[in-house]
Amino acid sequence: MSNSHKILLMGPQGSGKGTQAERLSQKFSIPFFGSGQLIREEVASGSALGEKLNQIILRGELISDVDAAFFLKRRLEKPDTQNGYILDGYPRNLSQYAAFDFDTPTHVVVIEIPREESLKRLGGRLTCQVCNKVGSVSDGIKPGDICACGGQWYQRDDDTPEAIARRLDIYEKDTAPVIAQYEKKGIVRRVDGQGNVNEVFERIVSSLSS
Ligand SMILES: [Zn+2]
Repeated sequence: MSNSHKILLMGPQGSGKGTQAERLSQKFSIPFFGSGQLIREEVASGSALGEKLNQIILRGELISDVDAAFFLKRRLEKPDTQNGYILDGYPRNLSQYAAFDFDTPTHVVVIEIPREESLKRLGGRLTCQVCNKVGSVSDGIKPGDICACGGQWYQRDDDTPEAIARRLDIYEKDTAPVIAQYEKKGIVRRVDGQGNVNEVFERIVSSLSS
């Protein structure tokens, strides 16, 4: 096993990808990024590029794949990525894959959960209409219950089963060809995302040693 871990972490919403990215980051002492987080960092830095991105966001437009690749490249040149990094949910389509031509991941970990499980996990998500806190019916709350802040829990429009199904369709359609490209390089590791966080984490770690 190489001592460098350049890991792309993929998986549908509800696969626990964000939590696993954080744990991998701690285990290997390498940073992890999602593209949204990189954009926020760049904007907060006050750089010329950050200002340009901010204008695009304020106009309600999407950051181009070329711009996204450009600042990802710059971020990966920082010294804290010397032993590797974890990218959470990038590249998410073939166009981003094509733009990500400046580095080669060592592993592409795909966390797989059945569609019904995604729907179940995401479908129970509730938001407080006052403090915007996110909770779950599995925590014993239901729509209409009162949050600690006094606000009411409700189900957001994008957490309805239809909206979730639509996002899962987009994920499958967009990422399947990206995963197929990495399959050709022999670096894809498919991991069962069912079970508790520790079990899934152990599976991911052992998948990295092959
Ligand atoms: Zn609240």
